[in-house]
Amino acid sequence: MNDVLPENTPAWQYLEEKFQQVVASYSYAEIRTPIVESIDLFNRSIGEVTDIIEKEMYCFEDRNGERLALRPEGTASIVRAGIEHGLLFNQTQRMWYRGPMFRYEKPQKGRYRQFQQIGVEAFGMGGADIDAEVILLSVALWRSLGILDALTLELNSLGSNAAREEYRKALVEFLSARKEQLDEDSKKRLLSNPLRILDSKEAKTQALLNDAPSLVDYLDEDAQSHFSALTEILDRAGVSYVINPRLVRGLDYYNKTVFEWTTDKLGAQGTVCAGGRYDGMVEQLGGKSTPAVGFAMGEERLLLLLETLHVLPENINHNFDLYLAAKDKGLELELVMLAEQLRAKIPKLKIRTHCAGLKNILNKARQSGAETIVLVGKNNEGGIISTLWQGDQPTQDLSILELIAMLSASKQ
Ligand code: ATP
Ligand code: MG
Repeated sequence: MNDVLPENTPAWQYLEEKFQQVVASYSYAEIRTPIVESIDLFNRSIGEVTDIIEKEMYCFEDRNGERLALRPEGTASIVRAGIEHGLLFNQTQRMWYRGPMFRYEKPQKGRYRQFQQIGVEAFGMGGADIDAEVILLSVALWRSLGILDALTLELNSLGSNAAREEYRKALVEFLSARKEQLDEDSKKRLLSNPLRILDSKEAKTQALLNDAPSLVDYLDEDAQSHFSALTEILDRAGVSYVINPRLVRGLDYYNKTVFEWTTDKLGAQGTVCAGGRYDGMVEQLGGKSTPAVGFAMGEERLLLLLETLHVLPENINHNFDLYLAAKDKGLELELVMLAEQLRAKIPKLKIRTHCAGLKNILNKARQSGAETIVLVGKNNEGGIISTLWQGDQPTQDLSILELIAMLSASKQ
């Protein structure tokens, strides 16, 4: 779990502002849910034999003996809230969220125990057009961040539950006959969650899978036409994608469309965004059957990518314009009042006051990186005069009124 230090928060804010601009242009509304939920919520939605449920959740009992978990992902909470507040039945809803998620993982670059996700969910729409919309929304974000070229869209269809069940049987039959060639993890999964074997990272398992039955051949007609309608929209919109028949995703709740945005620039943690359709979840959690589709992205991985590609704006750490200091004794009060007056008159101007005595004022002002330095002093008549500095030189003496006029003009 990481601290995000002041020098790094501007990049986070930049990413989040870009995301907010994009979701606003697609008319998604923000939802905020608690970080703590009942363990049961995640057991029922994510699937008992997934990595998250088996080994990654932070669980505890509260003083009342209720079994709670720090949320490992956002979707289950949003479905719960949607059911609880009557947002889903016979309605369409487009929502976005942002916040920390918790998973007990082996920490490494791009993989942490507390990490930030931002994501969207769209409820009540079962067509391929809304699948396309959430994908196009992600494309719009990549474009606005300048990283579209570094990302690949991987796409697959998981079909209906019945089709997946048929396929599961065929896969288990095929792999059971070759069990001794599987890696240890996959051997276990053969019993618990055989579809996950498809995204095993083991070379020998991947080689074995080359001849395994393919999910594509088991897709039901509905899922097939849904998938071709989706690819037709993406083609027309000029979005390129790779169909990856082995893409199954780590959470159990998906059906039909699944997708991931991946990059080869971040090493092993190459998936920056992942999502798909989960038509069964609302009913599974006690609501009326409601189709749904969404995605989540990891902010840490995206920020690593923005840094690696050098696409963060240069002035991102710029947090103030004007350094204001008093050079004579007894002017502290005057300085505070002047700064307040300037802030009220010129809201866009970012001002830092020197609240650190009379020593080394100029050095500190220069080190601060401020564009403009103003020193305030007393003139011969005891009035207040401000001096503008550029580099090592005082360049101009101004009355307070002249100073305000000059700074206002610079912020027009
Ligand atoms: P992975 O295969 O990398 O473990 P996942 O399938 O578990 O990912 P999801 O649950 O789909 O991931 O979460 C969506 C996104 O959230 C991921 O694509 C990734 O960008 C990010 N993410 C997931 N787990 C972590 C983590 N532990 N640390 C940082 N980011 C993460
Ligand atoms: Mg994971």
